[in-house]
Formats: sequence, C-alpha cells, structure tokens
Amino acid sequence: MENSAVGEKGRKKMVKRVVISGGGTAGWIAAAALSKKLGELLDITLVESDAIGTVGVGEATIPPLRTFHHLLGIDERAFMRATQATAKLGIAFENWGREGERYIHSFGKTGTGAWMCDFHHFWLRAKEMGFTSAFGEFCLEHQAALAGRFACGPESPLNFAYHLDATRYAAFLRAFSEKHGVCRVEGTICDVRQNPHSGDIESLLLETGEEISGDLFIDCTGFRSLLIGTALQSAFEDWSHWLPCDSAVPLQTRASEPAMPYTRSIAESSGWRWRIPLQERVGNGLVYCSRYLSDDEAITRLLEQVDGEPLTDPRVLRFTTGRRAAAWKNNCIALGLASGFIEPLESTSIHLIVTGIVRLMQLFPFNGVEPSLQGEYNRQTRRELEDIRDFIVLHYHLNQRVGDPFWDYCRHMAIPDSLAQRIALFHERAHAFQNNDELFRVDSWVQVMLGQGLQPLSWHPLTQMMSEREMQRLLGGLGSQVERALHLLPEHQAFIEQYCRGDVVAKV
Ligand code: FAD
Repeated sequence: MENSAVGEKGRKKMVKRVVISGGGTAGWIAAAALSKKLGELLDITLVESDAIGTVGVGEATIPPLRTFHHLLGIDERAFMRATQATAKLGIAFENWGREGERYIHSFGKTGTGAWMCDFHHFWLRAKEMGFTSAFGEFCLEHQAALAGRFACGPESPLNFAYHLDATRYAAFLRAFSEKHGVCRVEGTICDVRQNPHSGDIESLLLETGEEISGDLFIDCTGFRSLLIGTALQSAFEDWSHWLPCDSAVPLQTRASEPAMPYTRSIAESSGWRWRIPLQERVGNGLVYCSRYLSDDEAITRLLEQVDGEPLTDPRVLRFTTGRRAAAWKNNCIALGLASGFIEPLESTSIHLIVTGIVRLMQLFPFNGVEPSLQGEYNRQTRRELEDIRDFIVLHYHLNQRVGDPFWDYCRHMAIPDSLAQRIALFHERAHAFQNNDELFRVDSWVQVMLGQGLQPLSWHPLTQMMSEREMQRLLGGLGSQVERALHLLPEHQAFIEQYCRGDVVAKV
C-alpha cells in the first residue's frame, strides 16, 4: 500500500478541505476551533444526521475549558446563559472509601508548599503533632463548594469549570461555527470512500446521494466510529479489565433545590451515580458494570434515588473503556467518543476533545499528511490518556467497600505499573507528582489518594524542622486567609441569578 502521506504521483496532497463527520460536542468543538483560528486557510464542512442525533450526555467539565473559550473569544455570560450553565468547583465523592464517607476533589490549590515538598507534607506532620484541621480547610475552592458560594471575574481567585446542557452547548457552538464560515450538511453517511491504493478517505457518501469530498477528515461520529474504526480499522485498545463499568443510564430531572457548585459522584453497589445541577434541571445517571447489575435493576435504582420530577425516560448506553491505538490514521483524526472513552468520573471527555483539536491545530498538515506529524500526535494523545486512565483507576482500586463483589474485584485487580508506582510512592513517602503535560496536578492526586483512605507512612523530613508554634502560625495563617476570602463570596444561586440566568426555561 502506498504511503498515505504521498499522493499518486509522488506529491504530497495539500490540505485545504476539512470534513468533520458528526455534530455532537466533539464535532462542533472541532468546527468552532478550526473556523475561528484557521478559517481563512481552510474550507470546513460538517456533516451531521438529525435522524441519528447525539449521545446527549457530557455535562460536567473541568477548568481548562475556560481557557479554550477564551482562545475562541467566547463571552462567558452569553455561553452560560445559552447553556443553562452553573459553576463547578470540584467533585464530591460520596461512599467511595467506606459507605458514609465523603471527600471533595476540588479544582483549587491547597495551602502553600515549599520548593522541596508540597503542602500536604506539612499537613501530615501537623496531624502527627495533634492538629485536627481537615486538609480541605486550606483550599478556598473546597470550602466554597461546601458552603455553596461562588463568584467569578477579575476579583475572584476561584479556579472553576461549568456544568452545562450538552445539547444546548452543541447548538451554541454550531451558531458560533456557522458565523465563522463552517458549512453544515444534514444527512446520514452511508459509505466512506477510500483511495484503493493509499487507503486515504476521499469522500463521504450520504443517503441522499450527495458526496462530500475532502483532504482531511475528522471523525466525530461518536461510539459508531464510522471513519477511524469501521473504515480505517484503527485497532481498539480495551481497558475494561482496569475500568470494568460498561453501561450507563442517564436521566434528567427538574431542579428541586438551589444548584450547588459541584458535581456529586456517589458510589453504588456496582458502579456510581452522578448528579450535575444546571439552572433549571439536574443531570443524573448511573454508571455500572453489567456483570454485576442488570439494566432493569440499574433503572429501578436510579429512579428510586433521584430527587425531582423526571423529565426524560431512562435509556441504557453501552460502552467499552479504551482508546483507538491510532487516533490519527491516514488522513483521518478521531475526536470524542469515536477516539475512545474513559468513563466520566472526572469529567475528562470534553477536555480531551479540546486538547485533541488544539493538538491538531498545532501540528496541522497544511502541506500534506506526514508520518512524523501523525506519530507525534498519536504519541502525545496516548500519553495524555494513559495518565488520565491511571487517575480514574485510582478511585476504583483504593476503595474500602469490602464485601461488595464489584468493589472487591476493583480492589484486587492488577493495575497499570505506572499507577502502582504512584501509589507506592505516596504510601511510603507521601510523594505525589505531575508528569510533563499531565492534566491532573499534585493537588488532585493528593486529594483523591487521601480521600480514598491511602495514608502515607512517612513524609518529608523538612517538616520536622518546624516547631509546634511555627506550625500553628503556618496553618493558622493559611486557614484564616481561606476563611476571609470565603466570606466575600456570594451564594452560588444568587450569583447565577444575577450573572447568567438563562432566559429560556429548559425544554426537554
Ligand atoms: P455524539 O454526541 O454521539 O455525536 C455523534 C455525532 O455523529 C452526532 O451528530 C450523530 O448524528 C453523528 N453521526 C453518527 N453517525 C452518523 C452517520 N452515519 N451519518 C451522519 N452523522 C452521524 N464528558 C464530559 O466531559 N463530562 C461528562 O460529564 C460526561 N458524561 C458522560 C456520561 C456518559 C454516560 C457518557 C457515555 C459520556 C459522557 N461524557 C462526558 C462524554 C461526552 O458525552 C462526549 O465526549 C461528548 O458528548 C462528545 O460526544 P461525540 O460528539 O463524540 O458523540
């Protein structure tokens, strides 16, 4: 087979026409970014099928989305109003250690460390000395989440993300993209036409008979993975032995109480349940492992546990956790669910779409697809995903829900060596680290490891050089800083009313 980077006469094929297949969150994020930043250099077409629709979930995000919006010049108020968004300061994990326990993985920075060791070393030493303050007391985002307080803008020090309505978000980005020149074609793709020599995709055939040709194709067809999976046969690397949940039931309910600025993740007997508060409604769902819980039982449990009037019918989604071995193959790059899936425990999927399209723009093959570009793109994508995978597996593996067959499996399963190394390092010496370009910071690893009950046996000896009085001064000072800042923040609900109350009541 001819090298796909090279055209039939030995010339590289310049890339001008980009075709995005699929108009879910992935498709429209890709369209928005490409049209805003490279629109003058490219002709961009997006094909989506109203008959197939989108997955309709994906409503909790993480802070880097704000940087992405900033890059595109998206107005925050307009975005929050249009998507019924609320603020998110972190995730409350309930019953993940033992039943009845709760910890928050917040987006903030906890305390202040020294160059030789992070703050948690000092906190561990203080605990040994008899101090009783909880770790979260030194983090403003953590305390603000608990207190239901929030503000944003130049005066506010909070690091935050959003809860948003996925369908409205896609519509918002569609309007943005069309304004920047993206051509949208409605229709169902029935065939992917490839060059018989190189295997490169040349066009998409729609059921209407229309044919959409392009130089570069972005596969955003969701779990169907029509281009990268079905047509190009990029192998799927299955991670379900580490992340055995394979099903989810989403359900929307009417909001029955003021929205709190955090996502709830509640461990259940064979998985976990999410609760994402928007302005008018709440996104709920149960993620579970079908080996341990039937679909009917999952639906019954979910309906028993949600509060507020259901606005949708529960429906089962099936998935396999893992990734496409090559997210970029031939002249096709997969984004979103087409490229693989890690369950939404830390709300990382939309973030991965954003980093995927940003990476593509950095390595964009204007002068033709080069193996070196592909190789670098795939290397960075793999690295990013493996770090996130390890972080998610950590939550499952460190559970203390003894006697629950699903959780017993997770506690005893073999884990990736990279994660085993991290756990050992923290357990033995309280060290946590962030790899180059890794998404999750030391603060995240520490909050989750402590939250899941992993107690370090020792910590940095530097902390022993502090007297009790010095420790008192350090912790007292940091604690009062957080308290003072907390009292300046308004109630989250009052903030929403004033800043971005959506003018249209959510229609489902
Ligand atoms: P989809 O939304 O499925 O869109 C696929 C598009 O392709 C649609 O427009 C469809 O019409 C089109 N298409 C498919 N086949 C054809 C065809 N033959 N012809 C034409 N068009 C076609 N992510 C987060 O960041 N946070 C979360 O809280 C979160 N929660 C999740 C909960 C669950 C249960 C699941 C399953 C995922 C969750 N995700 C979350 C992931 C998130 O939903 C996705 O990353 C995001 O919605 C992107 O989806 P997509 O655009 O890749 O796919």
